[in-house]
Amino acid sequence: MTTATAAPRKPLMPLDDALVQLLAAAEPLAGAESLATFDADGRVLAENVVSSLQVPAFDNSAMDGYAVHAADVLLGQVELEVRQRIAAGTAGAVLLPGTAARIFTGAPLPSGADAVVMQEDCTRLNDERHAGPETIRIHSVPLPGQHVRHAGEDVQRGDTVLAAGTRLGPAELGLAAGVGRAELRVARKPRVALFSTGDELIMPGTVAPQDMPPGAIYNSNRFFLQNLLRRMGCEVADLGIVPDNRAATIAALQAAAADNDVILTSGGVSVGEEDHIKPAVQQLGTLDLWQIGMKPGKPFAHGRLGAAHFIGLPGNPVSSFVTFLLLVRPFLLRLQGVQDVAMKPIAVRADFDWPQADKRREFLRVRRNANGGLDLFGNQSSAVLTSAVWGDGLVDVAPGEPIVYGQTVRYLPFSELLA
Ligand code: AMP
Ligand code: MG
Repeated sequence: MTTATAAPRKPLMPLDDALVQLLAAAEPLAGAESLATFDADGRVLAENVVSSLQVPAFDNSAMDGYAVHAADVLLGQVELEVRQRIAAGTAGAVLLPGTAARIFTGAPLPSGADAVVMQEDCTRLNDERHAGPETIRIHSVPLPGQHVRHAGEDVQRGDTVLAAGTRLGPAELGLAAGVGRAELRVARKPRVALFSTGDELIMPGTVAPQDMPPGAIYNSNRFFLQNLLRRMGCEVADLGIVPDNRAATIAALQAAAADNDVILTSGGVSVGEEDHIKPAVQQLGTLDLWQIGMKPGKPFAHGRLGAAHFIGLPGNPVSSFVTFLLLVRPFLLRLQGVQDVAMKPIAVRADFDWPQADKRREFLRVRRNANGGLDLFGNQSSAVLTSAVWGDGLVDVAPGEPIVYGQTVRYLPFSELLA
């Protein structure tokens, strides 16, 4: 038997290598802007936020109750006269020995006090006696420091509370505000031109489902890609649908390269005659990365068109979605100055078998079940977008390594990848 000699196929680049190469090309964008702290959610800090004060700024009460000097209350049932009332936002006077101060959560601890007794542990005696100065009986023995929030226990003066390169979320904005910052310097938004290739594509709303011509499909990718880009803090120029021919592809790429940091396309990046992206990019610029050993998502490309990055995603919706999450997302974060962009898989039990592992590293659409394990979506085709809706994450399967029911696997939640 003779074997036909085919041209040796170039091995696919492993995903990790592709990511390293892609991130190495992702020089952080020059230029930053000042934004109101309120408006900075999702953006990346371009400065260190250093605190010029300590937080809390003063010792204060963690409870509604009574501020005391713990040494005055060494036994249960001690009675103390209440000489002052300190609400949040006011300052008390010195606490005299043998007295207590009515105090509320967040109010400054009066000097001389070193503990707070919660009001539930005290009885007000005036109702019983109907006269005399306000007096309480304390039923518990406070430890020094009890229910006191100490000055600087959260932030010390001079602390860098948020480092440059931090992606800002609600908690970060709250912390920045807590040290007095109403404005923040953030990396500018990457400008991304987006277009979908494919003569079969029709925008929903332009043709009713019953009137769709033979072979036509609605453009799904444009909807999730545009919104994924916005979530990643990008300014999107959506150039719509580009037909499957060389001239139109070249014209679209040239227009997009003029004033964008990134050009992101979907479809047309395989090797069929109707795939025009690769030759067009090679004609106008360079193609550095091409085809990755992952499933879904083998057809993925990165190159340069002048100063702009070119990224070509596969046309199949799940491939497009998954390659965005695993490759484009970290790339866009790095452009904005985020250093740690590595995905952090969680060890979770697979409540399914996956006996036929692929030669490529595979990302299965799964979802958590009520028993703390993962269920597998029945159809793992890269064209079945329902899998990404049903699923709440991906299982990262090593090339050629089957999964046995009950085994611990590497789970990547969409909640993290979509944030
Ligand atoms: P391609 O990579 O252009 O060969 O496309 C692969 C598959 O994805 C084909 O079945 C296309 O019809 C489909 N496809 C390409 N682009 C889109 C899109 N924007 N929305 C939905 N399906 C698409
Ligand atoms: Mg196509």
